[in-house]
Amino acid sequence: MKKLSVKTKLTGWLTLLMLLLASLLLAFLLSVSRKVAFETAISQLSQVVQSNLDQLDVSGSRFELGSDFSFYRNGVSTLIYSQKEALLAGQIPVFFAGGEAFRDRIIRKVPAEKGQYLVVDVWIPMERDNGIWVRGILEAPEDTLLVRNLFLVAFIALPFFIALVALGSYLIIKRAFRPLDHITETAVAINEAKDLFRRIHLPSGSDEFCRLADTFDELFGRLERSFEAEKQFAADASHELRTPISIIKGACEYAKKYDETAEERQETISMIYRQTLKMSDLISKLLSMTRLEQGTEPAHMKALDFGELLHSVCEAQSYDHDRLVLAIPEQIIVIADSVLLSQLVQNLIENAFKYGKPEGHVWVSLERDEKEILLRVRDDGIGIPAEEQEKIWKRFYQVDASHSKEGGAGLGLALVQQIARLHGGYMTLESGPDSGSTFALHLPAAAKTEKNEESIKKN
Ligand code: ADP
Repeated sequence: MKKLSVKTKLTGWLTLLMLLLASLLLAFLLSVSRKVAFETAISQLSQVVQSNLDQLDVSGSRFELGSDFSFYRNGVSTLIYSQKEALLAGQIPVFFAGGEAFRDRIIRKVPAEKGQYLVVDVWIPMERDNGIWVRGILEAPEDTLLVRNLFLVAFIALPFFIALVALGSYLIIKRAFRPLDHITETAVAINEAKDLFRRIHLPSGSDEFCRLADTFDELFGRLERSFEAEKQFAADASHELRTPISIIKGACEYAKKYDETAEERQETISMIYRQTLKMSDLISKLLSMTRLEQGTEPAHMKALDFGELLHSVCEAQSYDHDRLVLAIPEQIIVIADSVLLSQLVQNLIENAFKYGKPEGHVWVSLERDEKEILLRVRDDGIGIPAEEQEKIWKRFYQVDASHSKEGGAGLGLALVQQIARLHGGYMTLESGPDSGSTFALHLPAAAKTEKNEESIKKN
């Protein structure tokens, strides 16, 4: 049964159900028709006997039969017996045994040599305790005949009927399941041909199959987009890595042939070093992003003083401190992974210096209200046009590659956004061409509890 298809199972079930229904109907018909036939026979017998009784004229010890008295009418034989049960008039049906005892006005079934008879007797009293019996006899409707006729009809009609039900159900179910076959075929084709562009595209409707097909189409769309994004990511990553490698290779070949003085060699080494730093930065960002995405390295969240973290990032990095303006209050506690949060801050401050005015300033401020903790990193640099502001968060996106300063590959802000989301926060940007940019990190405010304070002290 397990191996049968749903279509076959449904067809089988419907056919079986119809067979059961047809049998029940047959049994019901049989019992009703038996009852009706029997009741018709009884009323026929009563009517004929009664009309003959109406034709019977009794006076004294004599009786006379009227002109409409009939000894045989509508299958009913009427007989007249004396008080001593001797047949006076009428003819006993051939297969009816005459010995049936007389019982006044009781209609009953009497078995005979062949079949059954319905019998009724009526006692007509006459003078001097004398009287006569009027007996009505009618052949009872034969059960076997009725059953035989019904079964004959059933056995001829039923197989046709059941075959029709089976065929009809199969065709209807097959038609109803066609969209499912189409969905399966498309999924198989996508899997086998790796053709992510294919869609099911069922004609629009609101049944379950249409909704399923629409959901699958949406799923295939998302798969296609994420597959394309992965492809693009791999292409961009290899391109970004290949560039510094080709520069290093070219520089080495050139140095081997032409660098003669110590200064020339020093210059080549510096260039190779810068490219190596760029590669190392790119690889570490790529690794961080992949780890965050796949969750292979869980973030170590703990309560920490955000102000302290900002100070230590600024001290550790060789920023131009004359241009860096800090407005960082004490005791702003945040639940975060210190390494990731430092990475986020570093990226924002580095960008502010990179894309700020050469002699301009970078403002870093921190504040907290009931709901959130807000870190702002502002510069007075080139700014970002409105139409680019959505795109800069994408991996490898650079507003203008020629504008993007050395060392960048367009991964910094994608990583920043990923880290913000991991901390339950989000990034916003206010910027315009030549009016500077303000990048803001919004984090949910951590409750300032004793437990948090304690855990900060321990760290
Ligand atoms: P990159 O490594 O190129 O700096 P990011 O992801 O950090 O990559 O930034 C993406 C792009 O957004 C940059 O190439 C630059 O064009 C733009 N950008 C980022 N920060 C600033 C800023 N403070 N001012 C102006 N443009 C910026």
